[in-house]
Amino acid sequence: MGAVEEVIGALEDGRKVAVCQVAPSVRVSIGEEFGMPPGTVATERLVGALRHAGFGRVFDTSTAADIVTIEEGAELLRRMKDNERLPLLTSCCSASVLYVENNFPELLGHFCTVKSPQQSMGSLVKTYCARKMRVKRRDIYSVSIMPCIVKKLEARRPEMEFNGVKHVDAVLTTKEAAELLKRRGLSLADAPESGFDSLMGKASGSGQLFGTTGGVTEALLRFVSWKLDGGNARIDFPEVRGSGGLRDVRVKAGGREIRIAVVDGLNNLKDILSNADRFGSYDMIEIMTCPGGCIGGSGQPAYTPQGLLARRDALYGIDATAKARTAMDNPAVQAVYRNYLLEPGSGVSQSILHLKRICLKCK
Ligand code: SF4
Repeated sequence: MGAVEEVIGALEDGRKVAVCQVAPSVRVSIGEEFGMPPGTVATERLVGALRHAGFGRVFDTSTAADIVTIEEGAELLRRMKDNERLPLLTSCCSASVLYVENNFPELLGHFCTVKSPQQSMGSLVKTYCARKMRVKRRDIYSVSIMPCIVKKLEARRPEMEFNGVKHVDAVLTTKEAAELLKRRGLSLADAPESGFDSLMGKASGSGQLFGTTGGVTEALLRFVSWKLDGGNARIDFPEVRGSGGLRDVRVKAGGREIRIAVVDGLNNLKDILSNADRFGSYDMIEIMTCPGGCIGGSGQPAYTPQGLLARRDALYGIDATAKARTAMDNPAVQAVYRNYLLEPGSGVSQSILHLKRICLKCK
């Protein structure tokens, strides 16, 4: 049975609460499957259509990206202070994790320990949200709409569960989500608009940037600058934006220089991982396997170079006009920490959001 049939079956069965999350890059690409121009921001129409399709709750993966930013930023600062396992590799691209496991297993310990935004949201849905909804975690059917097929493999990994319950039960790519809506007789062109579920609230602009290359870095730098520079913190870091393989960036924060590489595309990933001297010269490396990041993922509608730029610009437009630009300013994220996680790296956070990377070849 294909993923679309499986999800339709679960929606029609109705015995479980169907919950859905939407990755940041999907909102600026799925409109193309309904005849809209590249870069159309279809967030509210998509959420409205998903509710009509039968999902009881619709969450924004970008809110989890905000939480990942805070967890990852705290880990980066701690590792820089202790000079421990630098550079930190960002962990949200599941294909890059697979690539390192298979080709550079000795570097696995460099990955940040926080799970990807997909898995972090899936985990929060079946813990924090389940408690708020007064539903047993086994009675939730959790679906994610993601930009690539590798996210399906990520959801099947044995470590992506809590107390024997998978974080995410089914993954649809952007194209499959469009197919599901069409098979339910829905179109984004005339879908009623709706907002993301208030239980996890709205994401900040930073969380939306996870959909494009450089976005994870910019979100992290906003956190680091806020932590180290207080009232003089920077919000915009145009030096990490763009595309084209590898951006070598130096940023000053808290009186020290942070050495960063932003890498997209598999060949560039291979180049930087196989050059030990170069690899070791950074504090942090953002790695995204797809050209342009998740906006160019394998599960996205086909695109032209101009179309990819339009998707990227749309994400920057959402960020520029967001009420909260940083993860720390996001009231929804503040509430999750106040009511559940308590602080970055806390015991709760370690048990539901972090993992130990296992070297499959070293066992
Ligand atoms: S960069 Fe590509 S492979 Fe990596 S998570 Fe995004 S869409 Fe998937």
